[in-house]
Amino acid sequence: MKVLVAVKRVVDYNVKVRAKADGSDVDLNNVKMSINPFCEIAVEEAVRLKEAGIATEVIAVSVGDKSCQEQIRTALALGADRGIQVDVQGKVEPLVIAKLLKAVVDKEQPQLVILGKQSIDGDNNQTGQMLGALAKMGQGTFASKVVVEGDKVNVTREIDGGLQTVSLKLPAIITTDLRLNEPRYASLPNIMKAKKKQLDVYTPEELGVAVTSHLTQVKVQPPAARKAGIKVKDVQELVDKLKNEAKVIS
Ligand code: AMP
Repeated sequence: MKVLVAVKRVVDYNVKVRAKADGSDVDLNNVKMSINPFCEIAVEEAVRLKEAGIATEVIAVSVGDKSCQEQIRTALALGADRGIQVDVQGKVEPLVIAKLLKAVVDKEQPQLVILGKQSIDGDNNQTGQMLGALAKMGQGTFASKVVVEGDKVNVTREIDGGLQTVSLKLPAIITTDLRLNEPRYASLPNIMKAKKKQLDVYTPEELGVAVTSHLTQVKVQPPAARKAGIKVKDVQELVDKLKNEAKVIS
């Protein structure tokens, strides 16, 4: 069973992002970039399926400019077998990413496609669902457990107030939630080996997809700064302030 994993290059989750002075975008100058954390979980799940003898090949795909090859190499160091970069420049919206991934799905015919539930830069939470619709595949989103059984995959989903298990016919789409697994670290020998693994590059034209845009980013601004807190000397003063200053109790 072939597994395709979508990995996105994003600002590292430890970075405190800043907006550009003109508010046009996030400032990415000299900022550490990494694999989107949910995509790292997706790679880990695919590699575990391979280690369990269920998957035969794991392919990592990323849509972006040449710099996203760094994240594909990380996925290869984590255990993916080969990589695909779809070469696009600049910001590309989720619908176009989904169309490009659909073209890669058509080419590779994977039985399982695993994506992150969300990219931590755009917070879109759209690509997996759109890909499911375009590829006409069943989807198990926000997965916290994945069990492949014959020609089906059972996905336990994290939903408000509990868990839901769905059974999907393969081929299927899965998007990962935080508790699905704990990704491993890449070892130095595996990082070295990853440099030699196959990485193919396709253009959108080769995949027959037009890179169009329906969205314009109008403004990027940081959240309002929080006012400094104060210390109260006792409960009486706290109650008094909540009643008379904040007016949140009566
Ligand atoms: P989003 O819909 O942007 O929140 O992203 C959800 C998931 O779609 C990510 O975790 C990735 O698995 C996948 N994805 C989004 N953008 C890209 C991209 N440029 N390249 C590869 N995968 C992507």
